[in-house]
Amino acid sequence: MTTIDGDAPTPVFVSVRPHVRESATGASDEKAERLAMPESGPLVDRYGRIHNDLRISVTDRCNLRCVYCMPEVGMTFQPRDALLTFDEMIRVARVARELGITAIRLTGGEPLVRKNLPSLVQRLSALGFDDLALTTNAMLLTPMVTSLKDAGLKRVNISCDSLKPDRFNSIRRRGDLQTVIEAMAAVEAAGLTPLKLNVVILRGQNDDEILDFAAFARETGRVVRFIEFMPLDAQGKWDNSQLVSGREIFELISARWPLEAIGNHNSAPAERFAFVDGQGEIGLISSVTQPFCGTCNRLRLTADGAIRNCLFSDDEHSLRDLIRDGADDDVIALALRRAVWEKYPGHAINEPGFLSPTRSMSMIGG
Ligand code: SAM
Ligand code: SF4
Repeated sequence: MTTIDGDAPTPVFVSVRPHVRESATGASDEKAERLAMPESGPLVDRYGRIHNDLRISVTDRCNLRCVYCMPEVGMTFQPRDALLTFDEMIRVARVARELGITAIRLTGGEPLVRKNLPSLVQRLSALGFDDLALTTNAMLLTPMVTSLKDAGLKRVNISCDSLKPDRFNSIRRRGDLQTVIEAMAAVEAAGLTPLKLNVVILRGQNDDEILDFAAFARETGRVVRFIEFMPLDAQGKWDNSQLVSGREIFELISARWPLEAIGNHNSAPAERFAFVDGQGEIGLISSVTQPFCGTCNRLRLTADGAIRNCLFSDDEHSLRDLIRDGADDDVIALALRRAVWEKYPGHAINEPGFLSPTRSMSMIGG
């Protein structure tokens, strides 16, 4: 299936920056290099990780300017004709589905600023994925939530980093808290439950709200997921002193309301914890201090059509160029297979000399 014939464009992969050289299972890269890439079966990398989750960034643009993601002014965006069309996204998704991708998450930038998103959701839904989810800042969500649900959307994550209006404004710089709170209710009224909230905790900015967010989870039944600040801000200002670790968050909350681990980590990034008294759930996404690379099952498609196997690796390949050069489905499938196969065992944030990726979170798709 995956031989490349005639003049079909050939995917070329360049390793830009080395990542961690030892795999989570202890196998060396040298041994992994000796394995041959399978030409059929699931999308698997050299370390045996099977990939079934595709994040599609539908735009790199956004209506907010969160301090941990974008500068207040001066962010540049891709020209519109550089972005994948919905037809091109559906093409990639269809091929990915045939290779074993079962879950799709739409993200960005802010996915709801892309026109006609429900029509994309409807077309993805028709392909029959087990899971079809959206991550959004929710500023435009309330009027669209019913059409998104009717189109086949199954789950929503809303990002919200403060429960105080002024604080919300200083972290997100645009938008307002009230609109986001109303969107939470609209999501639940549409039956898209349980609602998950993404909260990036920054030292000195909103770390005094950790218990408030835990209380919010207890009162509302919404699953609050605390995310460690990652070196993916476009300004390149990340440093360890701003990071509040998942461990610190756990200790603070559990001292007030005891927690117990639920489920197993599997490939989900969040470690899940229930309040022992049965009043709700939180999640910890400790990407920096406790990387979950060993069980990572994710691939990303950037808004400009590059396939990327890791947030922290600059290795990517343009499926858009393949598609626009007339590649057939086998060539796209091979590019997806190669992207997964080439994946490094882990990120190197905690290694000396780590350099942030050249593309930031909103350019890649969070
Ligand atoms: N605009 C949408 C939103 O904010 O939900 C979707 C895209 S956003 C890039 C996806 C997620 O990445 C959000 O939950 C956001 O808080 C998170 N994020 C952005 N930059 C981050 C960073 N440097 N470290 C950790 N999380 C970050
Ligand atoms: Fe926009 Fe989301 Fe980045 Fe905030 S985190 S600036 S909402 S893309």
